[in-house]
Amino acid sequence: PLVLVGTATCGRAAGALEIVMVFREELKKSGIDAHLMEVGCMGHCYAEPLVVIYNQGFPPICYGYVTEGIAARLVQDYLAGGDPCLEFALAALEPNDMVPTLADFPRGLVEKPIILEKCGLIDPENIHHYLALGGYGALARALVKGPEWIVEEIKSAGLRGRGGAGFPTGRKWETCRLAPGGEKYVICNADEGDPGAFMDRTILESNPHQVLEGLLIAARAVGARQGYFYIRAEYPLAVDRVRRALHQAREAGLLGRNILGSGFDCEVDVFQGSGAFVCGEETALIASMEGEPGLPRHRPPFPATAGLWGRPTVIDNVKTLAYVPHIVEKGAGWFRETGTAGSPGTAVFALAGKVVNTGLAEVPMGTTLRELVYDVGSGIPKGKAFKAVQIGGPSGGCLPESALDLPIDFDSLSRAGAMMGSGGMVILDQDDCMVEVARFFLDFTQKESCGKCTMCRLGTRQMLEILEGITKGRGRPEDIDLLLELAEDVKAGSLCGLGKTAPNPVLSTIRYFREEYEAHIKEGR
Ligand code: SF4
Repeated sequence: PLVLVGTATCGRAAGALEIVMVFREELKKSGIDAHLMEVGCMGHCYAEPLVVIYNQGFPPICYGYVTEGIAARLVQDYLAGGDPCLEFALAALEPNDMVPTLADFPRGLVEKPIILEKCGLIDPENIHHYLALGGYGALARALVKGPEWIVEEIKSAGLRGRGGAGFPTGRKWETCRLAPGGEKYVICNADEGDPGAFMDRTILESNPHQVLEGLLIAARAVGARQGYFYIRAEYPLAVDRVRRALHQAREAGLLGRNILGSGFDCEVDVFQGSGAFVCGEETALIASMEGEPGLPRHRPPFPATAGLWGRPTVIDNVKTLAYVPHIVEKGAGWFRETGTAGSPGTAVFALAGKVVNTGLAEVPMGTTLRELVYDVGSGIPKGKAFKAVQIGGPSGGCLPESALDLPIDFDSLSRAGAMMGSGGMVILDQDDCMVEVARFFLDFTQKESCGKCTMCRLGTRQMLEILEGITKGRGRPEDIDLLLELAEDVKAGSLCGLGKTAPNPVLSTIRYFREEYEAHIKEGR
């Protein structure tokens, strides 16, 4: 038998390491020769700790909300006694008449995992698991095909950056490839800082080799011989697993000099961020790596031509790089079969807030908000009514119920006054005050403003004071117009994305929930 326990951060927070201990002790006590394996996140974070058991004669059954007592029973009753304890089963991974299957989950019909596919199935600390499933085959192909081919394939796939802005990845790589200079860099941006977002952390914790392979292919495409993972220090498990992956890849000849005998040399190191939200912005990230304060810089020049130490540098989000091996292996046409014409592929979302099934989901671009909230997330807890979804992190927007049938892709969301952002999605119900939600997110961006631009530093503070006045019953009738005016000024007078998008939660809540602002002001509450 094989026992998998999800021990990514979501599992650990729910006690997965204790569950591992119980399995270890019970298996030893019962004398059962089972293999116990720690895996990454299976996506169903709401039901952590999660355990999957492969036992002869049964399909692999997934158990949710596993306690130490349930773990002991799974060993005694199932592995020793043959009773699969279906009362604790969340789903089986393969169709079988005996047990509920994953296909019985509505979310299974909506999801289309590409970069999450192996998360929760393989041991992220063992390169052989990744290799056994075809890992690093795309790197070998890319090394043979060469830089021009790689860039053209990524361009044809229409891959857009999953960090938030949605810039075409192939175009960025081409600019860097053609930029003069012998020394170039590739950086994986894992400085995920949005409240409610945990996609990048989970991918690095669950399948780090996938991202490393993408980074090495990017390095080959642009001619970089040095790469970095820029990971926020608050993600110690991700840092640890990436470091381990680098070590294993080096031992396997997949990193360092003359990779796979191709003559291509590339080293990759980890750089830990220090917790400033603005360092997710690429020029601030570069400044912090150079030992300067993490402040954004004017663009142009863009990093693709003058980035780290003034050298051409490609900076891509974790998810963007994770797609690369799949595209190189299966082709641009395959990638374009999923998603929309303008936003091909899938999107990974972290569902959080007032939703039954919190966790990670990967769905085709163009999936509607309704499918995500109701099919994947199973709706709102306690029978309450859906009110809004805050999408795209603190710089995103709040969309109301009327937007539930909106397809989620880069362009549709931006037309609706929100943005894809990196994939954080906070669901709000009938009890949430939208003015308070706007205040919460503006408070976050105001505190994280680096202070370089007057409008971002002081304009957001002034907006926050007005919002605090409104939520405390001191609002004035002219406050809404003042907020709208200040929001335009902050957007126009800010250097980087943080300031340019900071007013979005305020603007979108005024656009869709103006009556709540008016009620606060009128009723003095
Ligand atoms: Fe700093 Fe804000 Fe200006 Fe960005 S917009 S550089 S965060 S002050």
